[in-house]
Amino acid sequence: MLRKEARRFAARAVHASFLAILLCSASAFGQEGAQPRERAQGPAGAQAQRVQVPPGPRIRAAVVAGGCCHDYPGQTATLMHAVEKVLPVDWTFLYIGGTNGQHVPALYDDPNWFKGYDIIVHNECYTPGDTLISQRYLQNIGLATRAGIPAMVIHCAMHTFRAEPTDEWREVQGVKSVRHGPATRVPMKVAAPKHPIMQGIPAEWLSPVDEIYILDRVYPGTVTLATAVEPSNSTEYAVVWTHQAQGARVFGTSIGHSNATWADPVYQQLLTQGFKWAVGR
Ligand SMILES: [Zn+2]
Repeated sequence: MLRKEARRFAARAVHASFLAILLCSASAFGQEGAQPRERAQGPAGAQAQRVQVPPGPRIRAAVVAGGCCHDYPGQTATLMHAVEKVLPVDWTFLYIGGTNGQHVPALYDDPNWFKGYDIIVHNECYTPGDTLISQRYLQNIGLATRAGIPAMVIHCAMHTFRAEPTDEWREVQGVKSVRHGPATRVPMKVAAPKHPIMQGIPAEWLSPVDEIYILDRVYPGTVTLATAVEPSNSTEYAVVWTHQAQGARVFGTSIGHSNATWADPVYQQLLTQGFKWAVGR
């Protein structure tokens, strides 16, 4: 990883002005082995997709995405277009690998990986089976929140590095999960209706087909905003939360598996309001 892979990573860091074009072909990028850099040919299509820029200071957001099982370019484009309706954002899409969940991204080798951003969105899915990851590497991920940089952690971010025996990454996210239930329509119930993130979110919402993450632990500083009952064990778990224990705001949701969920207006409202809360806007 390191130097060679770092160069590969750098080549895959796609700035958002090129990424918006991906929205038009999100389904193509959902396929195994998709390489977004080959498709991001230029900004012309991106400009056509732009909405009017909201007022206020611009926010520098990095989306760390890639790995197993989900359409990261498509999901990222959906997030960008939802958030850009209410906040001016300069996006950087840090696409750190295709569909190989065994991969260990070089990104976090660099302890300065988060510098220059106002918020980090984690929507990645790496679950190496063997514990080969150093504690320093895991600590590097958490350096961002300890430096006061807010974060959003979405779906498989919770299962990334789930085999690691230590909690550095989980303590950033506020929960521990190593498995999920079968695909189902998640019956989400709002637990904190007065929280700004949940404003306007229906008290009960049935998601498109998605996954409920089994939470083995909830860490101090985590506030549950919404829950769902996992049908396979009749147990209620947090599915939306905030976490503030390391010096920065973290918004988390374990929902976000399918593109149908990402296309749902309620889910987009949840992500948008989570983003706003995290950056304090
Ligand atoms: Zn999933």
